[in-house]
Amino acid sequence: MTFFESHLSCKGKRNIIFSLTKTKDDNMSMNMIFFGPPGSGKGTYSDRICPGFGIPHISTGDIFRHAIAEKTELGKKVESLLKTGKLVDDKTVMNIIKERLKKPDCKKGFVFDGFPRTLEQAKELEKIAKIDLVINLNLADEILIEKALARRICEKCGNVYNIADIKRNGISMPPLLPKKTGICDKCSGKLIQRKDDNEQTLKDRLDVYREQTMPLIEYYKKRGMIKNVDVVAGPEIMVPKILAVIKKELKA
Ligand SMILES: [Zn+2]
Repeated sequence: MTFFESHLSCKGKRNIIFSLTKTKDDNMSMNMIFFGPPGSGKGTYSDRICPGFGIPHISTGDIFRHAIAEKTELGKKVESLLKTGKLVDDKTVMNIIKERLKKPDCKKGFVFDGFPRTLEQAKELEKIAKIDLVINLNLADEILIEKALARRICEKCGNVYNIADIKRNGISMPPLLPKKTGICDKCSGKLIQRKDDNEQTLKDRLDVYREQTMPLIEYYKKRGMIKNVDVVAGPEIMVPKILAVIKKELKA
């Protein structure tokens, strides 16, 4: 019995659509990397796309934050590195990734977000996992900055809103407004702008991203793995769009 048939015979209609979009057979996996500048929404997209494929969204940032909060050996090391403004070294990052990929939830694949960050990491990754697809999310700096400056965060619960309504050059990004101006829907907390959401910091962060990511994009482009996706709308339009790209790759 094939993967499809087993799903058709023992599961309901909802699962049929899902399994058809998922894999051709049980042995197939989908190992993906998402690249995208800060503020492009790649974390949101990964979070929404992964459950449908039954694969985890692996963010090295989340792993680091978790380790710091838990005060593990790794957490202490990462915390001291970050305090001095240093990047976590390739060897440490690779050890974390190796450990993470051993977990059973990675059997069908994964989405990396924020990794690899250096060519060295990309080369090391090749030795432990075969990457099937690299999604590169494109969005102009000017739009990213406008969006980031319009971000409002609840000072109590951290819920995020956005007051920018961007409609130009084929881009349509509606705002994410609270019901009451300046007040969080969830907890009635005050909405504030984060201190580091200022134009210069954002520009610097984007420059660092471009500089860091360009060689990686080249690396995967040479291997024919990159699919570019222009971010032109909010998640309700972009998520199906990215899914369509992935499905096309699965069929190829
Ligand atoms: Zn709140």
